[in-house]
Amino acid sequence: MTFLQLDNIKKTFGELSVIKGVNISASKGEFVVFVGPSGCGKSTLLRMIAGLEDVSSGTLSIDGKEVTYEEPAKREVSMVFQSYALYPHMSVFENMAFGLRMAKLPEDEIKRRVGEAARILQIEPLLERKPRALSGGQRQRVAIGRSIVRNPKIFLFDEPLSNLDAELRSQMRVEIAKLHRNLGATMVYVTHDQVEAMTLADRIVVLRAGLVEQIGSPTELYDHPANTFVAGFIGSPK
Ligand code: ADP
Ligand code: MG
Repeated sequence: MTFLQLDNIKKTFGELSVIKGVNISASKGEFVVFVGPSGCGKSTLLRMIAGLEDVSSGTLSIDGKEVTYEEPAKREVSMVFQSYALYPHMSVFENMAFGLRMAKLPEDEIKRRVGEAARILQIEPLLERKPRALSGGQRQRVAIGRSIVRNPKIFLFDEPLSNLDAELRSQMRVEIAKLHRNLGATMVYVTHDQVEAMTLADRIVVLRAGLVEQIGSPTELYDHPANTFVAGFIGSPK
């Protein structure tokens, strides 16, 4: 069953056509990765799913409901950004609780959700710290924690590991895979890193200049790239 559906989605900024008619679907619990070169429209697509950017045409559905013009808060999706954007004056706990306070959840429910997310991400000992006292990897966990506590229908990740050094990146890659297994949540993950795409994805969407070049499992794309562009990106050497 389709959980997320993009039907003929287009996006223009003034004269500039950035997304030129894209069809993508994801089933519940699926880990879908968008890959493609810088400027091909990955972030724009993600932002349209989140409702942070209006679509120019086409329709968008989540969990069987059309949300093309739905405000972001009502879509029940949550985005993890490349720059973690934690509030520097707030503790880790308060950073993770912030969105829940805005949504006026009761305090005991906030404590329960933050505690649970901290346990999953193994950051329980850090809850009283300020972001400046955290390493890059710990900050990234807090940023992911802010999404988990909201219990979203879909997790969106926009190159979440690209600011980390190589070692931490591979460590966090394993953590994200584990998180996906544990939560069983639908995830859409943007990266330009082939290794991340190949190891995390159930299905990869290869984008080029606002269009889908090919969609398939890592093995399908690796073994049967549709063209030299896909092959160059993730395919086997020909
Ligand atoms: P990616 O994430 O794949 O690197 P983006 O989605 O950020 O690509 O950008 C795709 C294209 O859209 C780029 O050419 C970018 O310059 C353009 N673009 C993105 N946002 C805007 C905007 N708000 N106004 C004008 N052009 C934009
Ligand atoms: Mg981007």
